[in-house]
Amino acid sequence: SRREGFSSIPNVKWEDVGGLDLLRREFDRYIVRRIKYPTEYEEYGVDLETGFLLYGPPGCGKTLIAKAVANEAGANFIHIKGPELLNKYVGESELAVRTIFSRARTCSPCILFFDEVDALTTKRGKEGGWVVERLLNQLLIELDGADQRKGVYIIGATNRPEVMDRAVLRPGRFGKLMYVPLPNQDERGLILKALSRSKPLDADVDLINIARSEACANLSGADLSALMNEAAMAAVEEKFSKIEAGAYDGALPHTIKAAHFELALGK
Ligand code: ATP
Repeated sequence: SRREGFSSIPNVKWEDVGGLDLLRREFDRYIVRRIKYPTEYEEYGVDLETGFLLYGPPGCGKTLIAKAVANEAGANFIHIKGPELLNKYVGESELAVRTIFSRARTCSPCILFFDEVDALTTKRGKEGGWVVERLLNQLLIELDGADQRKGVYIIGATNRPEVMDRAVLRPGRFGKLMYVPLPNQDERGLILKALSRSKPLDADVDLINIARSEACANLSGADLSALMNEAAMAAVEEKFSKIEAGAYDGALPHTIKAAHFELALGK
């Protein structure tokens, strides 16, 4: 993958995202179509929010959906990790903020994604001290320069919206709040389906049924991804042991079966 802070169009598609239909529709309206058909929106004088905050429990698709938005819009994607930006040498993080925004303008249309954005925006005078305070002020300056920010959309992500300084949640900044929840039963099924898109799944696997099982209650998308990988791993290992035992019939594709999911769930 590319170095942090550098831009490229991500290869995540909407089909890779399970559930989150409402978010997808919102981002279609607020970002994708505006990037694809800028002149129409200009003609009608649309001047809507360009800053968003995705919040919710870890591993539920915040990063994934931000990448899918960029992919669908054909826009560049710059991934900034809040804590890394903060840990630059004192004084350098302000310069880094300026550089990031200037880079985003250069490669617009662009999605500028701030992961763990709470690290940069903790309430002033609280945990962070003056380093965070100066960085936050610089961030606000950049966010407020929305006029020069044409074609640059800002998406922040956090698990802890409550620690963020209220000032950054205002319109024009990270102004539109969007909740990314833990998936429910149906959504778990959709996530498993999305995760299996490029995998040799056997016809005997009932993803809906797996999503319904007690063992999957309260699992996040990231947990389900781990489950899918464990099942795939079990299938590969079974193939190897068959080959080693001289019992592998290469004529049949060796697929990921229901039994492999049972093994994976048993862990
Ligand atoms: P964090 O708050 O920990 O950064 P996040 O909400 O940004 O988490 P992602 O990084 O988007 O979560 O998700 C981690 C991985 O979990 C994804 O790469 C994907 O494999 C899987 N995943 C999570 N949510 C979904 C989803 N809705 N559909 C498909 N896969 C998902």
